[in-house]
Amino acid sequence: MVQAKSWILKQHFEGFPKDSDFELKQEQLPEPKDGEVLVEAVFLSVDPYMRPYSRVRMQPGDVMIGTQVAKVIQSNNPAFPVGCHVVGQCGWRTHTVSDGTGLTVVLNDWPQDVSLSLALGGLGMPGLTALYGLEEVLAIKPGETLLVNAAAGAVGSVVGQIAKLKGCKVVGSAGSDAKVAYLKELGFDHVFNYKTVPSLEEVLKQASPEGYECFFDNVGGHFSSVALPQMKRLGRIAVCGGISLYNDEEPQTGPYPHLNMIFKELRMEGFLVGRWAHKNEESLKRMLAWVQEGKLKCREHVTVGFENMPAAFMGMLQGENTGKAIIKV
Ligand code: NDP
Repeated sequence: MVQAKSWILKQHFEGFPKDSDFELKQEQLPEPKDGEVLVEAVFLSVDPYMRPYSRVRMQPGDVMIGTQVAKVIQSNNPAFPVGCHVVGQCGWRTHTVSDGTGLTVVLNDWPQDVSLSLALGGLGMPGLTALYGLEEVLAIKPGETLLVNAAAGAVGSVVGQIAKLKGCKVVGSAGSDAKVAYLKELGFDHVFNYKTVPSLEEVLKQASPEGYECFFDNVGGHFSSVALPQMKRLGRIAVCGGISLYNDEEPQTGPYPHLNMIFKELRMEGFLVGRWAHKNEESLKRMLAWVQEGKLKCREHVTVGFENMPAAFMGMLQGENTGKAIIKV
């Protein structure tokens, strides 16, 4: 019998999450039955989507949703032998008994010198989001200029690097000078701290006076309202996230995008990474090759200790992370 810990959503978040919204629960797990496995979390992920999805996918008392890299420690299911690692939609739990639903074995030929935690970041859902946003939604082409915000985060840092690999000019924004320095190291062409620039409009104009063909939007709200008029005619916008809106108690209103969209004939498309799940294996192999060739850097912000998950989650929402926010058990 295994003693498992899990983090429960005690009550729905109102505004920014707080410690008292979470509760740590302990329980004895039953032995896995025929066809079931027992997995132990090694790395867990905290992601922005957990904030808006908590409203629509969860009830108070539910285990927090989330993905982890886990090791199979008992198995009555030949698809998941003992010792193998899986990416699992297990939620914020240290141990899970599963019939295999929501578990995916980590790529067969995962190299020894690449941390398995990358399966939650650059070589996982956020990395795939960056790739599909650029290739499938924006269909970005060499020579184009791309704007990306939350650029030092899990998705944004990969977006900028892939766009550079594809021969684009990349302009990125992030919320601290240290993040700006990191993005310069990664090869971004223009980077700025959106919290300290005197005028967002001016800095966008200076970074690309001729405008932007592509905008990978992770932030929404005010940033998007200022960025839209900077698009070139027939510009494309991939609406990936709206992190500036997730903690709002009252929805923000206008300026509305319509006139800019009409006059500049823009195309704006929202997307969810799961649309291209059928391509994931091939895509991950491509991205793993970039990592191994040193062309794609995947920085992580690692918090140690399962008990620190709520703090890591709230820290990520406030911008404490450079790269992917990970919890190491
Ligand atoms: P990040 O690693 O980028 O972490 C979130 C970052 O957002 C913080 O580090 C912070 O950086 C920034 N941020 C927080 N509040 C604000 C704000 N008010 N204005 C501007 N920036 C803010 O997270 P991810 O890379 O995992 O996710 C990035 C975006 O992509 C999110 O919106 C997320 O919901 C979305 N997403 C969408 C997917 C899809 O399928 N459509 C899949 C995965 C992610 P800073 O210091 O720069 O402010």
